[in-house]
Amino acid sequence: MQNVNRSVTIAIDELPDNVVIYKFQEDDFIFVDINKNVEKTENISRETLIGKKLTEAFPGVKEFGLFDILMQVYQDGQPRELDTRLYKDDKINGWRYNSVRKLANGELIVFYKDMTRCKQLEDEVYVLDKKTAQERKKVNLLAKALEQTDDMVMITDVDGTIEYVNDSVTLVSGYTKEELIGNQTNIFKSGKHTKEFYENLWETILAGHNYISVIIDKKKDGRLYYADLKITPIFDEHKNIQNFVATSTDITSRIEMQEKLQKLATIDSLTGIYNRYKLDEAILLQIERYKRYKEPFSLCMLDIDHFKRVNDTYGHDVGDRVLQALSRLVMGDIRKTDIFGRWGGEEFIIILENTNKEQAFIIAEKLRKRVEATVIDEKYKITISIGVAQYEASDSRETLVKKVDEALYKAKENGRNQVVVA
Ligand code: GH3
Ligand code: MG
Ligand code: MG
Repeated sequence: MQNVNRSVTIAIDELPDNVVIYKFQEDDFIFVDINKNVEKTENISRETLIGKKLTEAFPGVKEFGLFDILMQVYQDGQPRELDTRLYKDDKINGWRYNSVRKLANGELIVFYKDMTRCKQLEDEVYVLDKKTAQERKKVNLLAKALEQTDDMVMITDVDGTIEYVNDSVTLVSGYTKEELIGNQTNIFKSGKHTKEFYENLWETILAGHNYISVIIDKKKDGRLYYADLKITPIFDEHKNIQNFVATSTDITSRIEMQEKLQKLATIDSLTGIYNRYKLDEAILLQIERYKRYKEPFSLCMLDIDHFKRVNDTYGHDVGDRVLQALSRLVMGDIRKTDIFGRWGGEEFIIILENTNKEQAFIIAEKLRKRVEATVIDEKYKITISIGVAQYEASDSRETLVKKVDEALYKAKENGRNQVVVA
């Protein structure tokens, strides 16, 4: 027995770990042997420890779990490993890794080493890894969200050098990411805004404010597009602007639709000139102007003579083309400030700004002659009758229109192709 122990002692002295051999006795574990490392680590001599009970030498041993593990290994012979905490003044001040095995003679051999630094590192790495993993996940999610949004997202540095664009930017602009990154944002400049527009933009964002506006930008192929742009400055920890994030949506089709609707509301679709709605509005506007400036204005109402015949002889489509031709003719003949529109059917109204009825008569007469002299088509000629009326202070829009309509009626009554002033 002594011999066996001696050879074991020599063997365990060679090991770099701390090694302890116990034997089970009277519900406790007795120190059979320890190696040199244990003497050093525990600052205790082999002589003082050997033969001692574990619970007596280390009264706290049952609390940190080693005692139970020794018991389990002793009972079922299965090797076990265990990390144990070391306490000092009720505080953890170290960690140990223990490996416990049962020897053939029933004794237990425990290898243990100090893991304090290891554990600290492990904790640090764990926390670090957990953090970076979380951050990585967050960044990945953000990047994915940025890539997949229909909005255009662009990140620039403080000088407007492009650092990042998402797929939508490349899709709308037609540039590749490689063409954009490293370039200046003025690559999108459309020439549709003033110098002041861009100055105002830069002043706003360099002052650290958000900038919101509809902007017209240019695609790689030169086509223009509308974008509702928002630029947000991003600050670093010293509150200096680090980047700008520009988000925008291509709203060209929306704007085009708005323009279309706007036109539909005021433009006659057959002739492309103003419609009755716009004429009504414009007459009201003139009445308001009159009230402020007392400037005279007059109306001409035109009606094609015997227009039914054109339709009946050549068909409705030809009639339509005559209406279009007449509209173009009048448009080319009037002043810029005059407002010309289709009142309905083959009746038209011209609002003559700053014009009294004598002047209006001259203009109307000139126009009548012009139409009479114009060959719209080789097959037929048209003439027009015109009523003229000047606005008077007592007139409403309705009475003014009634006046000019009656003048036109008189022109028809008198034999057509003539101008009658109310
Ligand atoms: P007058 O004015 O000389 O008394 O005779 P008219 O034959 O021109 O009679 P009136 O002005 O009353 O007739 C209007 C005609 O204009 C009726 C219709 O056939 C035609 N007309 C009205 N709107 C349109 C249109 O949009 N397209 C075409 N092709 N014809 C129209
Ligand atoms: Mg008519
Ligand atoms: Mg007519």
